[in-house]
Amino acid sequence: MKYDGENRVARIIPDCVTDGEGVRVSVYLAGCHFRCPGCFNASLWRFDAGEELTDELLNRIIYLLRPDYIKGLSILGGEPLQNQLVLKRLIHAVRLHFGSTKDIWIWTGYMKEYIEYDDQLKWILSAADVLVDGPFVKRLKADLAFRGSLNQRIHYLSKN
Ligand code: SF4
Repeated sequence: MKYDGENRVARIIPDCVTDGEGVRVSVYLAGCHFRCPGCFNASLWRFDAGEELTDELLNRIIYLLRPDYIKGLSILGGEPLQNQLVLKRLIHAVRLHFGSTKDIWIWTGYMKEYIEYDDQLKWILSAADVLVDGPFVKRLKADLAFRGSLNQRIHYLSKN
């Protein structure tokens, strides 16, 4: 399954104010096949980077999300949609513990139009609240909120 990944998390940033709106918990997943030139997170291309998502680590992420001032979870990478073992567990745990009171932002190198037509990817469009899509394109690099290049877009998928 090319989208499973190896169930690994590369980095967790509590109280993050740069990955989405509000104060958030950011989780960076390990592994990306895209390898965009100039990628800011090339150290996260390897699928065996970081640590395994154990129940203990998942509980720690949920604990970090508990304070009222935390608006939600941001999932980046690496490529979240090529790490669906982790992605599905994270989303399930957030909805189980917090319902829709915490929002979920996901960054992906896939474009939304591609995701819509891939049976293994399209579930994410009803699972996430916000999708930031498209690969980083070095020649289109720009100083934008939550994006690295002009081709990337922010899709608000829910009303949260
Ligand atoms: S999709 Fe994202 S993580 Fe993967 S190479 Fe491109 S910019 Fe880097």
